[in-house]
Amino acid sequence: MIASDLRSGVERLGDMIAEATIIVPFTGAGISTECGIPDFRSPGGLWTRNRPIPFDEFVASVEARDEAWRRRFAMEATFAAAKPGRGHRALASLYKVGKIPAVITQNIDNLHQVSGFAADHVVELHGNTTYARCIGCGQAYDLPWVKARFEASGAPDCTICDEPVKTATISFGQAMPEDEMRRAAELSQACDLFIAIGSSLVVWPAAGFPQLAKNSGAQLVIINNEPTEQDDMADLVIRFDIGETLGPFVGN
Ligand code: NAD
Repeated sequence: MIASDLRSGVERLGDMIAEATIIVPFTGAGISTECGIPDFRSPGGLWTRNRPIPFDEFVASVEARDEAWRRRFAMEATFAAAKPGRGHRALASLYKVGKIPAVITQNIDNLHQVSGFAADHVVELHGNTTYARCIGCGQAYDLPWVKARFEASGAPDCTICDEPVKTATISFGQAMPEDEMRRAAELSQACDLFIAIGSSLVVWPAAGFPQLAKNSGAQLVIINNEPTEQDDMADLVIRFDIGETLGPFVGN
C-alpha cells in the first residue's frame, strides 16, 4: 500500500510500530541528506560528481589512492559538521525503549553511533569513513594520522605491513564484511517489522535484506521520496521526506 499523504502514512507507521515487538531499520544515504551529507543518486549527489573508484583500481594505482584521499579530505568539513537528523533520532528513541535491537546501515557516516546506538548495535555493511584501515593487516588509523602523511608524501602505506591504507569503507569490487552480512541476515530473519529508510535499494547484496525479512514473515515498510524497485513487495510505502515522516517518533 502506498500512503496517499504524509499524515496517513505516519499514522499507519505509528500503528505498525506499536504492534511490532522487534523492529529492524535498514538505512541508506537518504537518512543523512538532511544532515548535509549528499546521497549518491539524487541530482547533485556524489555519483553525479565523481565516478566511484573501484577497489582493484585503488590497490593497483597510486594515482587512484591519491585521488581517493583527496576526495575524502575534500568531504571532511561536511562529515565533521554533520549531526544526527530526525530519522537518526527517531530510531535512537525506539532503540532506547527496546523496540530496535540494532540498525543495519549502508551508511558510512557514523551518525547512528552519534545518535545514541552502541557501536555494537550498528551493523555497517559498507564500513565507516570516519577512520582508516590497512587493506592488508587491518590495522586501524585515525584520519589526522593519514592526513599528515598524505600532505607530506601522498597516500600512506601501513607502518606494520606496508600495504595501502584506505578509509574503513567497502568499495565497489571489495568483499563484503562476513560478520556484518551474517548479523544483518539474522536481524532480518528475526524481526517482525523491517523498515527500509532512504535507500534506492539498488546496491547489492545489501538490497537483498528487505526481501529476506519479508520472506521470513516480517512486515515491510519502505520510506523513500522516490519509487524503488522493491515497493511492490512492501506492506507500506511512504514516498515522503524521511525527517518529516520520522520526526513524530523522536522521543524525549
Ligand atoms: P542512494 O543514494 O542510492 O539512495 C538514496 C535514496 O534516498 C534515493 O532514492 C533518494 O531519493 C532518497 N532520499 C534522499 N534524501 C531523502 C529524504 N530526505 N527523504 C526521503 N528520501 C530521500 O543511497 P543508498 O541506497 O544508501 O546507496 C548508496 C551507497 O552509497 C551506500 O551503500 C553507502 O555506502 C554510500 N553512501 C553513504 C552516504 C552516507 O554515509 N551518508 C552518503 C552517500 C553514499
